[in-house]
Amino acid sequence: MDWNFDDSYTRLPEPFFARVRPTPVKAPVIAVLNRRLAEALGLDAQALMRPDGAGMLAGNRCHPSSTPIAQAYAGHQFGHFTLLGDGRAHLLGEHLTPDGRRVDIQLKGSGVTPYSRRGDGRAALGPMLRECLVAEAMHGFGIPTTRGLAVVATGEAVFRETPLPGAILARVASSHIRVGTFEFAAALDAGLDVPGHPAPRAADGTHTRALADYTLRRHYPALIGEPTRYADLLRAVMARQAALVAAWMRVGFVHGVMNTDNMTISGETIDFGPCAFVEQYDPATVFSSIDVQGRYAFGNQGRIAQWNLARFAETLLPLLDADPKAALDTAEHLIGEFPALFERHFQAAMRSKLGLGNEEPGDPALIASLLEWMHRAGADYTNTFRDLSSRVAMDDPERANPRFKDPAFTAWHARWTARLARQPGHFEDAAIRMRTANPAIIPRNHRVEEAIGAAVDAGDLGPTHRFLDVLADPCSAALDGSDYRQLPTRDQQVFQTFCGT
Ligand code: AMP
Ligand code: MG
Repeated sequence: MDWNFDDSYTRLPEPFFARVRPTPVKAPVIAVLNRRLAEALGLDAQALMRPDGAGMLAGNRCHPSSTPIAQAYAGHQFGHFTLLGDGRAHLLGEHLTPDGRRVDIQLKGSGVTPYSRRGDGRAALGPMLRECLVAEAMHGFGIPTTRGLAVVATGEAVFRETPLPGAILARVASSHIRVGTFEFAAALDAGLDVPGHPAPRAADGTHTRALADYTLRRHYPALIGEPTRYADLLRAVMARQAALVAAWMRVGFVHGVMNTDNMTISGETIDFGPCAFVEQYDPATVFSSIDVQGRYAFGNQGRIAQWNLARFAETLLPLLDADPKAALDTAEHLIGEFPALFERHFQAAMRSKLGLGNEEPGDPALIASLLEWMHRAGADYTNTFRDLSSRVAMDDPERANPRFKDPAFTAWHARWTARLARQPGHFEDAAIRMRTANPAIIPRNHRVEEAIGAAVDAGDLGPTHRFLDVLADPCSAALDGSDYRQLPTRDQQVFQTFCGT
């Protein structure tokens, strides 16, 4: 049970990465170790807890099979193109698991790199714990996501507005290839001058092709032999992103910074900055303090996914067809299919929330009218659906949730029960479907703040550990009476979240 690093990414041309080692920290101590994940990766959790293990997860010690790099990428941030790259992250390598998977092990907060710009390369404990908590919940919901293997306290302060305890997150991802990585490749092909790597303009898309071929091998090997493989890649990424964003909406997740550098090609959720969960249902919900226009509002995430995928498609143009006009036609045609694709995923996700196992033409209207009622009534998104998922909700809705006595709801309830009665199977089958689709527990914003506050202010990781334990299985019937289901009181309510970088 040990690390087994490979470094296939470093076989890409040099401008895609920089070889750079993490900067050691003063006193690394494991704050959180995800034992379940460690074991799934074939690692010895006990050994990781020991000083050597913590030292490695903090970047103080380098494993003999690891060749650390920082990855270059670009991205559209709130609509504007920028050159970025891992400014505070080091990819230790691709760990090959005993069951034959290849996963990136990345340290975040591990020191400066050539891409740090004016940043200090470090991270604070609070945001790293937040990333760990929310990622674990995502995984528990059955949603593709990068995950936190460990958070290591560094024993050093990081200076933001005030001094804060520093930490490093050891993150596991099926890769860190982003839409922004393709934008970087396309920029190289357009003649971007990277210091030390002068790249001649390559109208045939040399760099983009190298990255696309690598991505196909790594994530979509079934497409490699296809003559239409680059269009297929676009189609495949669109499908995974449509499924991903629909799944986010199933659980009320607002990513908060859906910049193209925060969108993976693998279809995993990545970069949990100011993310948060919708409580009182409102599609216009925004938490991030920097999202003043509501670009990344809850109900806008499908449209933004399409916008980001259009940026991805643009990078692929030279590979889609030698004739630029034909390439553009192909890209536009494919991207134009996204709204319908996303809608299909969204409707399927919502049908599962209502226990519907088959499809009827009236379903979208049934779903929309429940959402309208929730919006008007200010009902909690998670608890409304969870309360609908019990036998009691069928026969005596008011007992499941006192809000359900609203006559506007009663009318909807009659339509829903009639619809359920028309599908094959018993209500219990529908209820099982609903309990899987509708978590009892989400990382409610005030509970996340509470756990982080205890860790940062009092060095108490108990609330974080307890929360991580329940979030591992957030749909469990055993959690129906849990106090994690309780709504925030007026003074616990969180209206704004911060990147906290
Ligand atoms: P994020 O908002 O975490 O997606 O980061 C956007 C960009 O800023 C990425 O290129 C990060 O590597 C970089 N960045 C964020 N925080 C820091 C920091 N403290 N030091 C250096 N670079 C950073
Ligand atoms: Mg990012």
